[in-house]
Amino acid sequence: MTKKPLIVAGPCSAESREQILETAQALKDTACDIFRAGVWKARTRPGTFEGAGEEALCWLQEAQAVTSLPAAVEVALPKHVELALKYDIKTFWIGARTTSNPFAMQQLADCLRNTDYHIFVKNPCSPDLDLWLGAIERLQLAGVGNISAVHRGFHCYGHNVCRNTPLWQIALDFHHEFPDIPLICDPSHIAGKAKLVPLISLIALQQRYDGLMIEVHPNPEKAKSDAQQQITPEQLKQLLANLQHFESESTATSTADFSEARSKIDEIDQQLLTLIDQRMQVSRQIALQKKETKESLFQPDRYLRHLESLLNYAEQMQLSSHFIAQLFAQIHDESLLCQIDELLA
Ligand code: PEP
Ligand code: MN
Repeated sequence: MTKKPLIVAGPCSAESREQILETAQALKDTACDIFRAGVWKARTRPGTFEGAGEEALCWLQEAQAVTSLPAAVEVALPKHVELALKYDIKTFWIGARTTSNPFAMQQLADCLRNTDYHIFVKNPCSPDLDLWLGAIERLQLAGVGNISAVHRGFHCYGHNVCRNTPLWQIALDFHHEFPDIPLICDPSHIAGKAKLVPLISLIALQQRYDGLMIEVHPNPEKAKSDAQQQITPEQLKQLLANLQHFESESTATSTADFSEARSKIDEIDQQLLTLIDQRMQVSRQIALQKKETKESLFQPDRYLRHLESLLNYAEQMQLSSHFIAQLFAQIHDESLLCQIDELLA
């Protein structure tokens, strides 16, 4: 590992004094640099745990004093920053929902003006690079000196492998715009399930991310928020040890020869492209026929019947049905665009 990655770890939410002190004590003996815990939770749907509020700041202040690990909380409003400072908490993260809102970002920038508290800015929920850049620019224009960015994945409609799909390219584009801002990965909110957290962490560090923000809970299944994606302090220790092990292995010179398999993959990908092109050509012909017979371009019944038979077919192979459903939804969307393009020509 060229430089030790920054590790931010701790529960999704602060739930009780005992939970906070137990987790912070356990993390003290790991490579954790910053202890995180949400105090005000921006829940998408009402009726779930919305955080313990100001009371939890006392627990965090105590954890900070006992472990010397700086505590970080999520802030969405100037009031949050003011209250956190009252309890000597000076590290903040801005959540995905807040980054998406320029009014809220401007209010936070104004209240953080000319400070050098460490601020982590998560990517917005939707894959809009400008919103993310804009949020950071508002802080920079206010003279906020110590900013890091956090890739926590993006919301995509439908059933996906990850809770928030990682879009590594957007994060790379972000890094291109702001090469001096450390880029951290939040594998917990990307994965949405604990068992995927190590893999996403590994992929991030292979891409030279500057750190990881990982949700850790002493008893994940009992957690009041994000129970499925939290790991135990012990699992965090193991994860970090495995990452280090992988890093030292990957610096050894590789002797593996993948050339034969890779040329097979290149050939198959070319065949796929040729087939997709042929499919789009047929679709363009259908558009002209539909115009003559005045039929609608999108025929949901035909689409759903066709998708069902493709999924039945895919089931007989080693293909995951949600991958196939997504792939064909994309092919179908593109096919409709080709038909529209044909009619406009
Ligand atoms: C969190 O870190 O607990 C959180 C709510 O994150 P996000 O804003 O990425 O959803
Ligand atoms: Mn969470």
